[in-house]
Parts: sequence; structure tokens; C-alpha cells
Amino acid sequence: MKLWQGTPDEFLDWLESEDWELVCYGAGAMAEDVLREPRFAEKVRFFVDGSSDKQERSFYGERYQVFAPDRLRTEDLSCTALLITSGWFREIERELSAWPELENVCCAAFPAMLTACTPGSEEFFRRRILEQCLLEYDSALRQRGDTDNNERKRLLAEKRDFLLGPDPAHRPLVLPRVMILPTTRCNLRCKGCSSLLPLFEHPTDIPVEQNTRDLELLFRSIDGCIRVTVGGEPFLSKTLPELLTYLQEQEKVFSVLLITNSTIQPSPEALAILQAPKFYVEVSDYGHIQQMSRTVAALEGAGVRFRVLTEQVWDDMGGVEPRGRDDTQRREVYRNCEQGWLMKSIFNGKMHVCARSARMYALDCGYESAHDYFELREEDGGEKIRAKIRALYDLDFTDACDRCDLGRLPNKKIPAGVQMAGNMKKSAYTLVRRDEYEALKRAAGKNQ
Ligand code: SF4
Repeated sequence: MKLWQGTPDEFLDWLESEDWELVCYGAGAMAEDVLREPRFAEKVRFFVDGSSDKQERSFYGERYQVFAPDRLRTEDLSCTALLITSGWFREIERELSAWPELENVCCAAFPAMLTACTPGSEEFFRRRILEQCLLEYDSALRQRGDTDNNERKRLLAEKRDFLLGPDPAHRPLVLPRVMILPTTRCNLRCKGCSSLLPLFEHPTDIPVEQNTRDLELLFRSIDGCIRVTVGGEPFLSKTLPELLTYLQEQEKVFSVLLITNSTIQPSPEALAILQAPKFYVEVSDYGHIQQMSRTVAALEGAGVRFRVLTEQVWDDMGGVEPRGRDDTQRREVYRNCEQGWLMKSIFNGKMHVCARSARMYALDCGYESAHDYFELREEDGGEKIRAKIRALYDLDFTDACDRCDLGRLPNKKIPAGVQMAGNMKKSAYTLVRRDEYEALKRAAGKNQ
């Protein structure tokens, strides 16, 4: 097997110049990401996957068929390249290299191609900023719920033109997402908490003046931010209404997302602000049915846009200890980390390459870096801060990725919201909307 070295764009250019097709190995989340690119989607003939529950089924709607990997031994693969779309790409490469039928087949692994993208290049910008902004914008428009498909398409096309700018040198600086952490307090102690909140021995609230000062410096330096996420357990923050009011007034922010563990009732002041279309709340269902019912009733009663996230699994990010990864390994972890692509973070006077970096710095766990974060200083002015933000996006790799497994492939999943002490009884029930409940009853009736 001949292994492809290069970026996804280089691979697609070559494929199109030869007029070759593709067969993909791996019919999961990574494959869906790949298929979002029309240039890939139109080249794919079929998928193979080692998991028997995916085989002999269609994938991505009805568009593709999935077979067992042995199909590669019998299919005519002339003028066809193999694309591995799985976190297990190294193991798959190793296994397929021993198949004589594939001796002359060209094989590319999507995670390795992402690692090959050069910071500062047009492809890097497109994959790490442009596409992320458009995905965020699309999702925020859907959550607002006040646009139909045609209007959404028009707005997305308009946004794309704006983000591309007249040319690369005069491009606006728009960030897909920034997370702000108003508090390190939480009433739960979840195993594998991505915010590391159970590890804070002295959790604190960040003064709202600090948060708004940091955001002010950020907004002065950029042309827009599609979404701000208010992290931690936001409803524990006493100054949340002030922070939300500030965000509501910011024209450069399109949407604000709050994620709650569902056990804390939002205050009437917070609810009144959250009614605005700019805000959206995600309610995590960790099985605390009574508290969650009250939270959902409060949001519903106030007309807040929200959804309940049930049956969640988390990616296991592991502990904060160094893993001893070299620069190449850190690069691979960073380039394959969705959070690193999507979201920068602001915490207590600094802007960080990702939310994990912000939390580890706050935790004082020995993590330090010369390039993963910078101080938001008044005296730097907009242009200097803008250059530092661009540098954060163009990082080749980060030191934080030596203390985190989120972008390590294959990643490990863990159940969401399991308590460390194991002392919170998880309900067997969840909330279902009335119309969904009626639909479920009808479906159950048909199956009887
Ligand atoms: S530390 Fe690295 S792997 Fe972890 S979230 Fe940040 S970018 Fe991703």
C-alpha cells in the first residue's frame, strides 16, 4: 500500500486531476465531518467498517452503503484511493499494509492529513476558522428558530463572503467561539469533568468587572465572534445577570450559549435576560430528574430557547499530569482536537488557546507555556491584541496538549455526569416533550 503524505486539499487536487474515486474505511463521526465537504462527498463510492453493527447498512442518510473490510479484497480498486476516516487509523494502516490485494492502492488517513496542514496557509484558515465559523453560525441560526432554509442559506453565503474578505491580507478577524468562565464553583463533582471543577480546592467567582474588562479588550481587537459560551455551572454565578446584560449589548457577538448541569434554578433576573433570541441554554440530563424538571419548567415558563441533552457521553480528557509527548505528538493531538479548532477561552485576564489551557492555568497544576496564552493588557491596544489572537490560531502545537487526551486518537468515551463519590442516585427517567411523547406512544402502538 502506498501511504499518502500531504494535506486534505492536496489529496483532493490529486484525486480530481486523476479523476479517481474513493473508498472510505470508518463510518463514524469523523466520516461525517469528511462528508460535509462536497469535494470528498462526491468522490466516495462506499464505506467499509470493522464494526458489524454498521455493516450492510446505509450511511449518511441513504447515500452510501457500508460493508465489512473484506470487501476491499474483492472490489476492483483501480482508479480508486482508500481514505481512512477513523481514529484507529494507525492500526488500520498496519493491518491493510499486510493485504497483498492492496499492494498498489494509494491510502490516505484523514487525521494524518490534518496534521500536515501548515499554520498560516489558506487551507489552515479555511479549516480552522472559516468552516468552524460557518458551522457555529448555522447552528446558532437554527437555535434562534426565526429563519427558514432559504433564508439560512442566504445568510450563510453572505457570512462566507464577509469572512473571506476581499483578499487574505484584508480579512476580518472573526472567531468561531470563545468560552468565558465566570466561576470555578460547581455543586456537582463529576468524574472526567471537562472543566476540571472538582480539582479546584478553593473555587472562586471571577468578578464581573474582570470578565467584562477582558471581553471589552477582546471585542476591541476583533471584528466579530459567532458565539460566546458561558462555562462552568453558570447559574451558580451571582453576577450572571450583569454578564448576560453585557453580552446582550455586544453587537460583535451573534449568539450566547450557556450549558447547565440542570440542578441549579436560574434566577428570575437571569431568566428575564435569557428570553432574548441571542441566548440559548443546553440542559445536561445527568439523571437528577426532579431538579431538572424544575429548571426546564423555569426556562419554558420564561420562553427561553433551550434543549435537553440526554444520554450524553463525554470524551475522556484524562488528568492534568504531563504525558511526555514530543512536539510531533503534541502537534497531532492539537490538530485533531475539535475543541482546539472551535474554541478559545478567556479567564481572569488571559486569553488561552483552548478552555483546557485556561482551567489548567487557573488550577496551578504546574502547567506553564510561552505560547498557549497571553495577557489581555489595556496598554497593548487593539492591533497588538489582534496579532496575538491570530498567533494563537496559527500555533503549530500547544504545551497544553501534553496534559490532555481530547485530541488523542482513538479517543475514549466515558459516561457523562457520573459522580465521584457515587452518592447521587441517577433517575431511570428523563424528560420528553409532550408532542414527542405522543409520537412515541403512537409508534409503540403500531409495534404492538
Ligand atoms: S489541551 Fe489540546 S487536546 Fe486538550 S482541549 Fe486543548 S487543544 Fe484539545
